[in-house]
Amino acid sequence: MAARPDSHTAINQPPLYQDVDLYGSDLPLRQAVAANGAGHEDAALRAFGRHWGSAAMFDQARLANENPPRLHVYDARGERSDTVEFHPAYHHFMGESIAAGLHASTWQANAERAPAPAEVARAARYYVVAQVENGHMCPITMTRAAVAAFAGDPSLVGMLMPKLASRRYDPLFRPWREKNGITLGMGMTERQGGTDVRSNTTRAEPSGNEYRITGQKWFMSAPMCDAFLVLAQAPGGLTCFFLPRFRGDGSVNALHFQRLKDKLGNRSNASTEVAFDGATAIRVGEEGVGIRTILSMVQLTRLDCAISSAGMMRAALARALHHAQHRRVFGKTLFEQPMMRAVLADMALEVEGALAAVMRLCRSFDHPDLPAEMARARLLTPAIKYLICKTAPALVYEAMECLGGNGYVEDGVLARLYREAPVNAIWEGSGNVMGLDVLRVFGRDETGSAALDELQREAADIRGVSEAVERIRRALAAGEADARISVEAIARLAAAAALKTSAPPMIAEAYGRTRLGGSRATFGTAGLGLDVTASLLGRACGEG
Ligand SMILES: Cc1cc2nc3c(=O)[nH]c(=O)nc-3n(C[C@H](O)[C@H](O)[C@H](O)COP(=O)(O)OP(=O)(O)OC[C@H]3O[C@@H](n4cnc5c(N)ncnc54)[C@H](O)[C@@H]3O)c2cc1C
Repeated sequence: MAARPDSHTAINQPPLYQDVDLYGSDLPLRQAVAANGAGHEDAALRAFGRHWGSAAMFDQARLANENPPRLHVYDARGERSDTVEFHPAYHHFMGESIAAGLHASTWQANAERAPAPAEVARAARYYVVAQVENGHMCPITMTRAAVAAFAGDPSLVGMLMPKLASRRYDPLFRPWREKNGITLGMGMTERQGGTDVRSNTTRAEPSGNEYRITGQKWFMSAPMCDAFLVLAQAPGGLTCFFLPRFRGDGSVNALHFQRLKDKLGNRSNASTEVAFDGATAIRVGEEGVGIRTILSMVQLTRLDCAISSAGMMRAALARALHHAQHRRVFGKTLFEQPMMRAVLADMALEVEGALAAVMRLCRSFDHPDLPAEMARARLLTPAIKYLICKTAPALVYEAMECLGGNGYVEDGVLARLYREAPVNAIWEGSGNVMGLDVLRVFGRDETGSAALDELQREAADIRGVSEAVERIRRALAAGEADARISVEAIARLAAAAALKTSAPPMIAEAYGRTRLGGSRATFGTAGLGLDVTASLLGRACGEG
């Protein structure tokens, strides 16, 4: 029998990247988890990592993204339907993440924070999930963050927490009071200005104990959430509202989806343009304090953006390492080629810094009772979100190139990751908005300076730290024009300090030496030296 014409194609092609333990094979992750207080979760996290790294999960992720959601504006009778249909694979991931508690595990039943290390333990799982399917993480993040907005309202807490804390995903379109578990979304951004929510024109008119909301939102994602936190202009000013899909009497609320956004990435998730036509809503917080009400929620969504982008970076690095270990060029594996090792090690260092920074930041969120940790969280959430979310696209691109042509085609996962990577920098406060937020921290009181001093003390013996702090102070004094200089350098300093606590000294030192002094254009130019390179690559491959 003649050989199949394509039988040569398996030659020198790496095996499929699947059935990996996404936790156990990641030494920096294991060390960061242990350094930040969640080491006792090791066995559970290994099981989680194996489950999420299975071939079946990767395949479900492909399906969820190849079959994007569809909007049904009308039903067969011509009546408004305003529903969005998701592929079963999307529901599969919602069920998995909710069963794992990613939407609620950091809250107690009374909406107080769960004890440490709830944040770090959740972040480790979130980091793993981000390596598999990203679109469904949007409603997971919004649900867990929304609790912060209504935590001060005992009646909302009493009503919502039992449903929200449930580990059962209930995708049915019916009133939230009748469901086994609920998810929450957010509608803040309007056509005339997302960042500048003060310019919102959506109106809220009091009607008995409730309000009628009229207006539009230019972006409102995960439209099949059971309710949304919405900003609207009440008589007393900009106010936060709880706007459910169904009214209290069981009728469908007046949310009218105009269309779904045709997005670059994030394709398993739906994002709508929506009109509210006198939709019924309940006030969250006092009238006129809408921005203050959503502030603590926004901190949490920003934190998740950073964790998720770090996870995407790890996903890209892992695939580059896998390819390089198996693909032979000029008689050696790519992994053995000196220039490829320099590129991979530089990427591994970037991922280590991102991971260490974000896990250390989660530890701060685990300690709301400690003022120094809260000051740190306030300063570093925008700074770290800025750095990690902006670094991810460049790193994913470099990983793509490590795979050569295989990286550029849709058969693999890097093309999807590449399209996904920019979104975390754009939503939940884009880059410049993070810069303004950091300036606000320094402008208001001593919070920023105290946190910066603490970082300097922690990282003192790393070369380049005092110069970096001087540069930060100069940039801060220059104001908005130099804000990106200060924000990036603060995040780099935080990463160096965090690496000191979770990685060997040579890694923290290499990070400081190559990252604290300013920017380089490409990966592979760090001049890490043979020992550091070998250590970084071994760690990234799970050795140790
Ligand atoms: C896929 C996707 C899903 C989304 N889902 C939701 C959702 O569910 N709910 C929701 O409410 N929103 C959602 N958004 C909207 C998102 O939060 C906004 O797009 C984002 O906040 C930016 O707002 P904007 O698009 O109006 O841009 P603008 O506010 O116009 O900003 C444009 C640019 O200007 C910069 N900028 C703004 N102010 C300044 C300044 N003073 N100085 C210097 N630069 C400045 C910004 O950093 C940004 O780079 C989603 C967006 C995307 C892409």
